[in-house]
Amino acid sequence: MPQEPDHGQTIAAQGSRIDAYVDRYAARATGMVASEVRALFAVASRPEVVSLAGGMPYVTALPLDVVGELVADLIAKRGPVALQYGSGQGDPHLREQICDVMRMEGIEANSNDVVVTVGSQQALDLITRIFIDPGDVVLAEGPSYVGALGTFAAYQAKVVHIAMDNEGIIPESLAQTIYALKTAGNRIKFLYTIPTFQNPAGVTLNAVRRQQVLEICQRAGVLIVEDNPYGLLGFDGEPMRALRADNADDIVYLGSFSKTLAPGFRVGWALAPHAIRDKLVLAMESAVLSHSSFTQLAVGQYLATQPWREQIKSFQELYRERRDTMISSLEAFMPADFTWTRPGGGFFVWATLPEGLDSKALLPRAVAERVAFVPGTGFFADGGGARHMRLSYCYPEPERIREGVRRLAGVIEQELRV
Ligand code: PMP
Repeated sequence: MPQEPDHGQTIAAQGSRIDAYVDRYAARATGMVASEVRALFAVASRPEVVSLAGGMPYVTALPLDVVGELVADLIAKRGPVALQYGSGQGDPHLREQICDVMRMEGIEANSNDVVVTVGSQQALDLITRIFIDPGDVVLAEGPSYVGALGTFAAYQAKVVHIAMDNEGIIPESLAQTIYALKTAGNRIKFLYTIPTFQNPAGVTLNAVRRQQVLEICQRAGVLIVEDNPYGLLGFDGEPMRALRADNADDIVYLGSFSKTLAPGFRVGWALAPHAIRDKLVLAMESAVLSHSSFTQLAVGQYLATQPWREQIKSFQELYRERRDTMISSLEAFMPADFTWTRPGGGFFVWATLPEGLDSKALLPRAVAERVAFVPGTGFFADGGGARHMRLSYCYPEPERIREGVRRLAGVIEQELRV
């Protein structure tokens, strides 16, 4: 019998397959299409390819033996609890610990307002589920996180991008867009923003603009969904104050242990005003009954027994070195007119090609030269971003980053000569 192809190949081949169920899906399923990032994983994971594409945290840097002992100890001492169903809102002790983590970015929260979710990705799904009817507007930075755009598409939201620059969202653009959309009779449900070390742009909303964004949204009655998985992975000094630190009323804050610990635990959370929290818990229960007690308790045990603040510092140093290597390699190899952002933290550089080049057209040639990136169009809901690409430095070792950038620069030079 022929083997079922692996997941990556299935996705890559989707474009050429006939789907026999196409007339029977719900309308919302038409918005569910494989993102360019996913289609790329199969190719980019080949060992000879330097992948500057994925956003995988470098979990190898964790003390894996310690994590192993901790998990064994958890089962030995609390097995019947760890292997049982849990509460829809999440483990109460872990929710207290999450409040300690959020305090590092200026947030004073009550653990009763926290809902533990399957990564912050599930929190995004639940928020979209409880707020979006087809055609409702979600405002998002342009570019924005591809996983969030996929969720918004699955619920048939209309995504409207807000212009941003190296200091994050441009407040005037936000105010004008809200005004124009409202005047045209649109229902704006929320602003989805990643203010700190943005994915994919690598930029951070400055302090003055933070206040302006809060004021504009408050005045217009627009809820803010603040997604902050990278906030503690800054390379220079103290963490930035979260937007949620200065407004508790109209913000849903999303956090995650995926980058500060490991994504395999799939533990994230939402901090929300009471009424929204109640809806989130109901939506959570209807989706999965409850998060895994096992991984919640494992994360709780890690936070209670391990020097997790020091571990975050060592992640900061590791990613800072890789960011430095990425920037110095871009400076060394890239042609004039190729520009890029300089992230103060997080995983990503957002680059702009010289005029006339298209990142999607460039990708197959880059892969042939054994380097991968994500074309910019995946980060826009409206087909924008053709001259841009996301380059990630989180996963490859520094010498691989340098080699990857060198190969990519060679491909771009060649294109410019055509
Ligand atoms: N938001 C952003 C901006 C992300 O980059 C990611 C992961 N790449 C997520 C949310 C989802 O992360 P997780 O579900 O692992 O918490």
